[in-house]
Amino acid sequence: MSYVTRFAPSPTGPLHLGHAFSALTAFDRARAAGGRFLLRIEDIDRARCKPEWEARIFDDLGWLGLAWPRPAMRQSDRLPAYRAAVDRLAAMGLVYPCRCRRGDIRAALSAPQEGADPAIGPDGPVYPGTCRGRTMAGAGPEDALRLNMSLALQSAGMEDISFVETAPEPPGPATMSVAAMRTGIGDVVLARRDIGTSYHVAVVVDDAAQGITEVVRGADLFAATFIHVLLQRLLGLPVPGYHHHRLIRDAAGKRLAKRDDARAIARYRAEGATPADIRAMVGLQPSG
Ligand code: GLU
Repeated sequence: MSYVTRFAPSPTGPLHLGHAFSALTAFDRARAAGGRFLLRIEDIDRARCKPEWEARIFDDLGWLGLAWPRPAMRQSDRLPAYRAAVDRLAAMGLVYPCRCRRGDIRAALSAPQEGADPAIGPDGPVYPGTCRGRTMAGAGPEDALRLNMSLALQSAGMEDISFVETAPEPPGPATMSVAAMRTGIGDVVLARRDIGTSYHVAVVVDDAAQGITEVVRGADLFAATFIHVLLQRLLGLPVPGYHHHRLIRDAAGKRLAKRDDARAIARYRAEGATPADIRAMVGLQPSG
């Protein structure tokens, strides 16, 4: 099977050095394997994504020397595919509607009977299960849809969730027990009330649709991968390999964020940096 990877930015701000590192790492790995590098625009969150950021992403990536088949996949074109995936999980009895707002969840978690501090999963505090007894028959527009993690794990019939990790220094073991999935991840949201889907569903459906054999992305998404592998199993999708690369940090050791305009590629370009300078700044070999 020939190698296919992707870079999947969300157009919510300027690309910074961390994005450049991620995109170049994926591109270099595809080239070394004689495979393909694809681009996907992750713009399901319409409130935060802007066309001008998307245009700048294309421009910065082209300037860095990357090439990809056009048009790039765009998630806002694919909402029916995400809906179908959630419907399928719902038909399996693994999904329930949830009307809890963030504040309700915080309040439930801080109630005295909850005892110990709530676990923090890939999406924040692990959901306490307030709405778990509800059924899809009662779902309405004010509801998000959640995965019933216990039922999902049972249905997948897996001993533990694991994947092949190819990064030289992964953030942790690429395997998680079902008990840890229940307590450390819990009932994640599959469809947000506002956008009708979620990052987890969209990424899994699209990685399969694009035939991705290895996902290259930052170590910050390592824990979310266990959710993705479970969804792949439940939906009968292939499980790609994963390469969770190190994160590029600023001088104070803080992870770069999109709001850190100071690290924007555009800024370095304006100051006269070359693509080779950017490679050197993030510790990558010159392109061959
Ligand atoms: N769209 C995500 C981001 O910009 C990346 C998702 C992924 O690579 O799976 O952080």
